[in-house]
Amino acid sequence: MKFAIEPAPVPVLPVAGTNEWFPVHRIYCVGRNYAEHAREMGHNPDKEPPFFFQKNPDNLVLDGVFPYPPLSRDVQFEVELVVALQSGGAGIAPDRALSHVYGYAIALDMTRRDLQGAAKKLGRPWDVGKAFEKSAPASPLRRAAEIGHPSSGAIWLDVNGQRRQSGNLADMIWDVPNQIAILSTLFDLRAGDLILTGTPAGVGPIVAGDRMHGHIDGVGDLEVTVV
Ligand code: MN
Repeated sequence: MKFAIEPAPVPVLPVAGTNEWFPVHRIYCVGRNYAEHAREMGHNPDKEPPFFFQKNPDNLVLDGVFPYPPLSRDVQFEVELVVALQSGGAGIAPDRALSHVYGYAIALDMTRRDLQGAAKKLGRPWDVGKAFEKSAPASPLRRAAEIGHPSSGAIWLDVNGQRRQSGNLADMIWDVPNQIAILSTLFDLRAGDLILTGTPAGVGPIVAGDRMHGHIDGVGDLEVTVV
């Protein structure tokens, strides 16, 4: 047997400080995982269990260029810590969860907010708002073997040199071990899975020409230009 058509290339993230690629399997995203961001979106963070949506692995952008997507007039940034899994499973216990983590990166969960809002209102899926082409600019991965497992530290995003988002990893409502544990009750997690762990407050729109600069202490920086 052989492929009937050419298979799509495996999406990857570069591994910082090596000549290796990390092959990406799925991209899971956590919704409203910082209290101040939940409030700015009009929700009460005390009452919500975590919930998840997905982006497509080939939505990753590695060249720092984000093309303004079609059919939206309100495209917004969300700076997030990325967790990359080197192994997986189902029913992972929180106290074993970090043993499955290969490393960390920084990414932007770019969002067509107007399309997402319309979908919410109609009870429809979020895919058109979240999982569009080039919706996930990301930095190279840093290995946990090198940097450890960051559970606190500043996470921020500047647009054109002005601070727009600012938070601390310690302010996540559901920390990384619990995100992995809960996700693994819903899906069989696998090596190559990425988790975008939610965004702090301050999300907002961009326009062509804007320069976004995201940072997470101990993980790195990501610079992205909107074209
Ligand atoms: Mn997000």
